[in-house]
Amino acid sequence: MKHKFRFITGLFIFLFLSSFTLSAQKTTVKRIDPPSWWTGMHNPKLQLLVYGPNISQTKPEISYAGVTLQKVIHVESPNYLFLNLILSEDTKPGTFNILFKKGKRNIAKYAYTLNARNMNPKLHQGFNSSDVIYLLMPDRFANGNTTNDNMPGMLEKANVKDPNGRHGGDIEGIEEHLDYLKNLGVTAVWSTPLMENNLPKYSYHGYAMTDYYKVDPRFGTNEDYKNLVKKAHQKGLKIIQDMVFNHCGTNYFWKGDLPTKDWYNQWPKFTRSNYHGGVVSDPHASKYDYKHMVGGWFDHSMADLNQDNPLVANYLIQNSIWWIEYAGLDGIRQDTYPYSYKDFMAHWMKRLLEEYPHFNVVGEAWLSYPSSVAYWLENDHNADGYHSHLTNVFDFPLMYAINKAFNEPNGWASGAADLYEVISQDFVYSDPMKLVVFADNHDNNRFFHNVGNNLNKWKLAMAFLFTTRGIPQIYYGTEILMDGDKSKSDGNVRMDFPGGWPHDAKDAFTPQGRTQEQNDAFNFLSHLMHWRQGNKAVQFGSLTHYIVENGVYVYFRKYKGQSVMVLLNNNNKETKVDLSRFADDLQGFSKGKSVLDGKAISQVKNMTLPGKSPVIVELEK
Ligand code: CA
Repeated sequence: MKHKFRFITGLFIFLFLSSFTLSAQKTTVKRIDPPSWWTGMHNPKLQLLVYGPNISQTKPEISYAGVTLQKVIHVESPNYLFLNLILSEDTKPGTFNILFKKGKRNIAKYAYTLNARNMNPKLHQGFNSSDVIYLLMPDRFANGNTTNDNMPGMLEKANVKDPNGRHGGDIEGIEEHLDYLKNLGVTAVWSTPLMENNLPKYSYHGYAMTDYYKVDPRFGTNEDYKNLVKKAHQKGLKIIQDMVFNHCGTNYFWKGDLPTKDWYNQWPKFTRSNYHGGVVSDPHASKYDYKHMVGGWFDHSMADLNQDNPLVANYLIQNSIWWIEYAGLDGIRQDTYPYSYKDFMAHWMKRLLEEYPHFNVVGEAWLSYPSSVAYWLENDHNADGYHSHLTNVFDFPLMYAINKAFNEPNGWASGAADLYEVISQDFVYSDPMKLVVFADNHDNNRFFHNVGNNLNKWKLAMAFLFTTRGIPQIYYGTEILMDGDKSKSDGNVRMDFPGGWPHDAKDAFTPQGRTQEQNDAFNFLSHLMHWRQGNKAVQFGSLTHYIVENGVYVYFRKYKGQSVMVLLNNNNKETKVDLSRFADDLQGFSKGKSVLDGKAISQVKNMTLPGKSPVIVELEK
């Protein structure tokens, strides 16, 4: 009895105190996004998201020359305000207070900074077909700082033994290996997302961001990221940031207190996307399929952002501009492109290109047909009139072909013909040179796995990748023949780079730490990439290819009198090729140099190609 009484009294006091705390919760500004901005932007508008308990009961005021508070937007939650500002052309950089008032009383204030925009013409120049992109997963590439593997407030702790856990790789790890990447011959680094992913599990991959404005502390700080870009630029390397507009992690700060209910696409019960990206461009698609494709959630921990809400749209657009300007980015890779509202994506691209006319974005439109992919690349062919304004897309159809071609027997429509068939569809693209070509990425089996660890097949594929049209991209560890099978786990295709962790037995970043076969692969790739950097025909030249006969795929790349002939022998046996069929493209050339072994080629009438091998010839008069 006595205990019960005590319990009830205790409960009463607890409830009383809680309600007292709630009503007395001080109105403060907990956060303003974007956290800073710049003067000198093309677009004078800036929309601030202000978050703080009961902040909507205040009246914001700004007094700073050039800055006009044009509109204050109230939303469903009392804890947000959206401020529409106009920055006139003559606004000077500086810091000013945003005052939040009740009557004449100042309830809260927030110091907001406008920096001068960096007008260095070398910045934000994008990437093109002269580049080679290296995709890495920061958690799995190199652990440069073991003291940040576990951080206070971060829910998931490091566990290198769990293939789907966090392994501790970070920005310092990337920075320490910029020279390695430079030496390998890549020119641009695309890291999977580095923003905070504060979720209890599977946080390492980075695609469930819980703060669009903050680098995950287990990777480093915003300042570390900015320095990484600076150091990469000093070494002549570009940095491409991975962004995700379709969804954010469910643990975002607005969890349980969304500004508006429609901030996320809401369903009566959890509803997944149908993942059929082709639905968006399909003229015969049902409304049901479209709604589920675009409005369904990517996963339980990934909330589907509703970019049809203009406040959400502005939040995302400004975030991307903020990172480009803050860090000095060279390009963006945008995740799950068809999953966001397409009109919003087109609007976003227009906004980016207004501010940064030479900037590039490569969109992940993971679709099997060239026509479906082409829908998303800015072009003039879409019958529904859709203009994406998207500068680059990944060539998924060619990835599928690369993963089939070298394993199949050669036939009318199989083997080497797989490559020819996909390339022959290029008429659907306004500019096929804008395609990013690749054999694998973090979401697929490692290519080396798919060719049964056959080094000759791997070399054929790499030779193709670095000599066909488009912008080549390789996945970290390709150069040391890393293997991985997605059917085992996602983590199996995202293993740690050997040598990236302090206690690793072998350091494959150095020749001594690699096996003979790994060095063979590394040297092959490195040679190819460095040669490519100096060859305009392969970087920018026109492509002429010939139908595949007897399992040999032959094509030419030509640029201002420079010409490269590529012969891919997809037969297991040595194959003789009579070159007279290629007379139109050999006209004016009598000899050449073999790129892969440096040997002179005294005539271009016939050649004998070793089995499962590429031959690349720089043609000479
Ligand atoms: Ca670390």
